[in-house]
Amino acid sequence: MDTINIVIVGDVAPSITEIIRNELEQVFAYRFRVYARIPLPEKCYMEKRGQYNAACILEKLLKYPGYRVVGIVSRDIAYPEFNFLLGLASADGHACIISVYRLQHENTHRYLERIKKEIMHELGHTFGLKHCKNECVMRFSNTVFDTDIKPAKFCDECACKIKAHLR
Ligand SMILES: [Zn+2]
Ligand SMILES: [Zn+2]
Repeated sequence: MDTINIVIVGDVAPSITEIIRNELEQVFAYRFRVYARIPLPEKCYMEKRGQYNAACILEKLLKYPGYRVVGIVSRDIAYPEFNFLLGLASADGHACIISVYRLQHENTHRYLERIKKEIMHELGHTFGLKHCKNECVMRFSNTVFDTDIKPAKFCDECACKIKAHLR
């Protein structure tokens, strides 16, 4: 199966997801489709923190079919032991999620670039890439400012490693 399924978790504008879907198809050699829109899972909510447990949402997405599953989450996500996360990929590489919560920007173009970079990064992990110190989308983002600085592309080394998955 060569389709990567996008699952929207919570409330993310369809106009945004359609642009992102398109952009991802231009990067990766797969078809992307919005497979489902689901509500934020109640059981993943960490009430004291007002955030959702990233691992909990990710686990839910592992059940979806597709070559890969990309979850786009509207609300803030975290690990219980971290303040927040921008994204997370599953160890088996089947699924990854990103949260758009901290990526928001009044400039829509900036917002879209950030989403694209974070999804490229998490998908990179699902294809076996590790964090990279080059000018590369696989640089680790501590905060959204790091996301802004890194390019929306894989460096030559990373691109080489996942060449079969790229256009
Ligand atoms: Zn990472
Ligand atoms: Zn790299």
